[in-house]
Amino acid sequence: MTDCIFCKIAKGESKADVVIRTPDAVAIRDVNPQAPDHVLIIPVKHVDSLNDWTDVELLGALMMLAKEVARKVMIDHGGYRVVLNVGNHGGQTVPHLHLHVLGGRRMKWPPG
Ligand code: 5GP
Ligand code: ZN
Repeated sequence: MTDCIFCKIAKGESKADVVIRTPDAVAIRDVNPQAPDHVLIIPVKHVDSLNDWTDVELLGALMMLAKEVARKVMIDHGGYRVVLNVGNHGGQTVPHLHLHVLGGRRMKWPPG
């Protein structure tokens, strides 16, 4: 996807504050953080949303990367939230599947 900002970031073609990079994904600080620590996990492979995703192994790897990110930014012991927004009602604004890792404060429930 040539016009996709997350494709460009994942390929290293656009600047981002990288927390961890693997061959399959990149974890970056969100440009508009909703918590003291807000990191996005972006797969290199472009898939619009969870609705179109089929790769079980890679989705599992993204979740494992979320755990590694939490450890790296030192929110693993305090606790954190992993979020995957899907589509319009889910609040997805960038149509390239990604996970949010949010922490550094107590999260509210239910989410808005
Ligand atoms: P969504 O709403 O699709 O679940 O999440 C998209 C997230 O990407 C938002 O939290 C937004 O702040 C973040 N975002 C959008 N464009 C950029 C960008 O160019 N760089 C970074 N680091 N974050 C971005
Ligand atoms: Zn993309």
